[in-house]
Amino acid sequence: MLNKQVSQDVPIKVLLAIYVVALCLAWSFFILSFSEGVLVFASPHDRYLPILLLLLFVSALGMLFLVAIIGAWFYIYRDAGRRGMNQLLWVLIAIFTPNLLGIIIYLVLRKPILAECPTCHARFESQLLYCPHCGRQSKRKCPVCNAIVERDYQFCSGCGTNLSATAQ
Ligand SMILES: [Zn+2]
Ligand SMILES: [Zn+2]
Repeated sequence: MLNKQVSQDVPIKVLLAIYVVALCLAWSFFILSFSEGVLVFASPHDRYLPILLLLLFVSALGMLFLVAIIGAWFYIYRDAGRRGMNQLLWVLIAIFTPNLLGIIIYLVLRKPILAECPTCHARFESQLLYCPHCGRQSKRKCPVCNAIVERDYQFCSGCGTNLSATAQ
């Protein structure tokens, strides 16, 4: 389990580091080429300063937008893992579908978060009554209304029946 977590975490951090470095490089390249090309800072009367500030503001907004989108990709990668979905496939869908449609499609179609068995740490659908890997009871069914509730609930969340009074 530990190894599984490490192997999932490392690529994300490496990708993030590469992305940040690339971002800094692109950003400084942009600033350099802009200030040299237009000679903004060489202008004696700073005529271009408002334009430069506006450009910086707009590009900073664009950068924030970009960071938000990249963040969404990382979120999808992690979230898909917790839900037992294909992480790489969904990130690729989010990246290559135009107009953020991939991210929206993911949010609509994603499966519920998987429950983790406290005994064997296997992941399974949270509505299951027993862990399919070790048989530990995870949920119970209300004998009156058949609602699936937590194992330690005192009262049914569906109908209010006193569960501790009924047989397990
Ligand atoms: Zn289990
Ligand atoms: Zn009930």
